[in-house]
Amino acid sequence: MLEAKEFDLATTLVKDMMVDAEKVAHVQNSNPLEHALLVLTKTGYNAVPVLDFHGIFEGVISKSNIIEAMFGLERIELERLDSQTVMDVMNDQAPRLHINDTLEEALHELIDYNFVCVVDDDEVMQGIITRRQLLKQYRNEYYKSRQKSS
Ligand code: AMP
Repeated sequence: MLEAKEFDLATTLVKDMMVDAEKVAHVQNSNPLEHALLVLTKTGYNAVPVLDFHGIFEGVISKSNIIEAMFGLERIELERLDSQTVMDVMNDQAPRLHINDTLEEALHELIDYNFVCVVDDDEVMQGIITRRQLLKQYRNEYYKSRQKSS
């Protein structure tokens, strides 16, 4: 967590608040949907980043993307878990932030998404920034400023 004096939306960089890539669960674009469902179920997350073989950020896959893809015309077709891959159903329009973007830029994206991937100049994922982290930081700042003024 950042110190109070360091926290400024306009100057703090997303890289100073992000969850580092090594702690982020992800799937690869070529994985079958079954694997993605396993990762999402085991981690308890609703969505995780999708990377290519070189770690380049490609999009985000969610449980609802997978459930939607399993619906045939008349029934749920479980075989699609094996026949379709992550890249067939992922959201490839998910926003991304650069490591040197500020929290102000992150704030705009986190209104619509509860997490956003952070990439470097080569589009390699370096981490994620979550709405929860930003709200927690704000809560801490709020109580600190109230203590100071009382
Ligand atoms: P949280 O703010 O911790 O509730 O996380 C919000 C969302 O961000 C989760 O539902 C996941 O989609 C994603 N997320 C958070 N932490 C991780 C992580 N370590 N690995 C992958 N995805 C994560």
